[in-house]
Amino acid sequence: MPAHPDLMTHTAQFERKLHKLSPNVYTAVGFAASNVHFLVGDTGVVLIDTTESTQAAENILAEFRKLSGLPVTTIIYTHSHRDHISGATVFAEGRAVEVIAADSFASDLVDVDESRPAPNAALMARTRRQFGIGLGPSERVSLGIGPGDRPMKGLGAGYLEPTLRIGRTSRLSREGFDLELARAPGETPDHLVVWLASDRILFSGDNFYHAFPNLYAIRGTPYRDFDAWADTMDQLLAYAPDVLAPGHTQPVVGAEAVRTALTDYRDAIRHVVSETVRGMDAGLDPVTIGANLALPAALADKPYLQPFYGHPGYAARAYFAGTLGWFDGNPTSLGQLPPATEAQRMIRLVGGEEALLKAAQAALDADDPQWAMELADRLIAAGEDANRSGARRIKIAALRILADRTCNAPTRNYYLLAARELEDTD
Ligand SMILES: [Zn+2]
Repeated sequence: MPAHPDLMTHTAQFERKLHKLSPNVYTAVGFAASNVHFLVGDTGVVLIDTTESTQAAENILAEFRKLSGLPVTTIIYTHSHRDHISGATVFAEGRAVEVIAADSFASDLVDVDESRPAPNAALMARTRRQFGIGLGPSERVSLGIGPGDRPMKGLGAGYLEPTLRIGRTSRLSREGFDLELARAPGETPDHLVVWLASDRILFSGDNFYHAFPNLYAIRGTPYRDFDAWADTMDQLLAYAPDVLAPGHTQPVVGAEAVRTALTDYRDAIRHVVSETVRGMDAGLDPVTIGANLALPAALADKPYLQPFYGHPGYAARAYFAGTLGWFDGNPTSLGQLPPATEAQRMIRLVGGEEALLKAAQAALDADDPQWAMELADRLIAAGEDANRSGARRIKIAALRILADRTCNAPTRNYYLLAARELEDTD
């Protein structure tokens, strides 16, 4: 089966192109997971972000060299995620370049930084699943905010340390451009946005892209401050930009289009917060709150709020965990049986493993893959038995069905890579 049709349509956001935003400003979209912005002065170039791999950076630099032979002299990192900092050496071309980041900048190179604290192995495994690393191009149709098919050579390999760290707001002149760099916590706390007043262009990093904001990443992220991100939208609106150049997906052009997009993004985040708080105050558990969370009609159809990357239900559960912690409030949960124990008892209750396996298969046959998977999980959790491979087969089939039905790219990739991992254990 093909991927969700909306997810296929969304790939237009990653059409490979060097966009001209103003006479001297260019944005490379679609060459990598993330975008690269070029501010071309008289004697040198200011670069904003560098992609996730040296190969992607080489491809972008080759494209840029068709327009200009000027050297990159300053690189600005909008934030520390690896998909923005890993191609810097390519753009530096062996020269000593200035590298600017926020004073709170911390490298996010999870699989090359062995000094990073635990749980590194868990994060690596989950990151591979979220981004579908190891899936074929026909399976990994999208990253949600970047093309599924992207260069992987030199992934994480071209990072350069910042040489200048800046505080809350700094005004700098580089290569004839007067820039305002401002701290703007959102997808990460260490975000910097860059305001080019002369051209009315705002480089917003990952605080906006054409997909629902990733308020929680299933690869495993600490709590992201929802209220700070919404407040940052107001900070960005105050610039009244004519052009919004995000860290991923196409630029937004036109003052009214930018104003609407930033306002809607803010309101969507605030809606998740208010609905989740309402559910928490009513004593609901995070799973129920997440399952019921939907955007209001005025926001639900906006193309940049579709759950291609972030997901409103995941966001609600993250807000619950980030504010009340893991405990759902039900005293039963405090002494919850571990899955293996619960599964053994449930299997006895339903009349044995064969009966449960049959029920799981029946759920799959009745087109209820989630329930099939939940039943199969009990057989897998219960321990050593021949029925585990039957249960694994049902779970693999269910994962593949669900993958093709979701328009959330991280979920699709996670399902498909998890299915492959299960196949490998058979
Ligand atoms: Zn990014």
